Amino acid sequence: MSKRLFVKTYGCQMNVYDSARMTDLLAPFGYAPAASPEGADLVILNTCHIREKAAEKVFSELGAIRRLKLARQRQGAQMIIAVAGCVAQAEGDEIRARAPFVDVVVGPQAYHRLPELVAQAGRRGGRPVLDTSFPAEPKFDYLPATAASPGVTAFLTVQEGCDKFCTFCVVPYTRGAEYSRPAAEILAEAQRLVALGAREITLLGQNVNAYHGAAPQGGEWRLGELIRGLARLPGLARLRYTTSHPGDVDDALIAAHRDVEALMPFLHLPVQSGSDRVLEAMRRRHTAADYRRTVERLRRARPDLALSSDFIVGFPGESEEDFRATLDLAGDIGFAQAFSFKYSPRPGTPAAAADQVPEPVKTERLARLQALLVEQQRAFNRSCVGRVLPVLFEKPGRHAEQLVGRSPYLQAVHAEAAAEHIGEVVPVMIRASQPNSLAGVVVPPQEAAA
Ligand code: SF4
Repeated sequence: MSKRLFVKTYGCQMNVYDSARMTDLLAPFGYAPAASPEGADLVILNTCHIREKAAEKVFSELGAIRRLKLARQRQGAQMIIAVAGCVAQAEGDEIRARAPFVDVVVGPQAYHRLPELVAQAGRRGGRPVLDTSFPAEPKFDYLPATAASPGVTAFLTVQEGCDKFCTFCVVPYTRGAEYSRPAAEILAEAQRLVALGAREITLLGQNVNAYHGAAPQGGEWRLGELIRGLARLPGLARLRYTTSHPGDVDDALIAAHRDVEALMPFLHLPVQSGSDRVLEAMRRRHTAADYRRTVERLRRARPDLALSSDFIVGFPGESEEDFRATLDLAGDIGFAQAFSFKYSPRPGTPAAAADQVPEPVKTERLARLQALLVEQQRAFNRSCVGRVLPVLFEKPGRHAEQLVGRSPYLQAVHAEAAAEHIGEVVPVMIRASQPNSLAGVVVPPQEAAA
């Protein structure tokens, strides 16, 4: 009889990918995915440390899971609880101290050992097993081939970790040093994903454009070359990548944006601040002018490129003048979408110890920046009305006969269409825009061709 596995994923797409791989990894040991933790034999919380109070949220979730575990024990059955991901890596000892009912604590670089750790926990009955090491062997060598259909769009991790050590970020501590998977391994995984039904693949990495993996015929590929290699796979319609560092946008990547049709004209390129003083304090290794130049070069290569970004407001030492430089940069570039947050200290990072900007000042600045960014997003969406956009339909919409898909610029697009169009790229005339989505009608093939 199969055992029930419940995985709850927090945070970024890399965690979504990791959760899918954990499920693949445990399938040969009889674990089948379950929709809820009630009655599960194994519960995995795949955690994220990026947001404030992340650990507290995990502890409160663990409280609820513990009650389910006790209920299961009363029925004479076992529930193994595992905490994985970046909170496990950063707070492993704290988890063992505060939540001794957790059976397995495993960091993001060691989860290929999950079957062994789960088996150990089962044998030890109550004594937790911890593995937050950065093993010498790359975990990808130990993960089984993807077996489950990813759906129309799939994630594929090509790079992990980061050597940049921005002063606000925990990633270099939780995910470790930069590692790039060999290109041949990535091509094989992409081929499998396409065979299982994926039409679009998003390449993932904490610093994805730092990718420098072994090339199939020897030497090294950077991300631009990897994208060209992947674009040759029959059946793969679209490619995207995230998250990038402005300092790692090289000539080959810009050329890929110019030449590779499958590479979508949408790029998430975090800038964080428009002030050189703040960028320096963040140790971002680029200036505002560097960022502007990079965007200019990208837009010259791909004129319809739409940009998204991340901003941190109220970084320690940020003055009103610094903040205005951020507003100026955002105003000049014009973003199709953006994520903006108030700075909040991450324990163990250098910026956490610096002089903090008062909370009300941060709040006020964030509101000003968001007003600008929201208006830019609305304006970008409005500019799509009246255009015919190729939409990759992914799934049924909320209404009958409706499908939802993505434009090249990653906007959600709703249109009436038959379910057999799921997985197809279909021309859609955009008729209306919302702040976060578009709506349109499918253009008949003869009109689309005209
Ligand atoms: S480049 Fe990105 S992942 Fe690396 S330290 Fe900076 S913010 Fe974190």
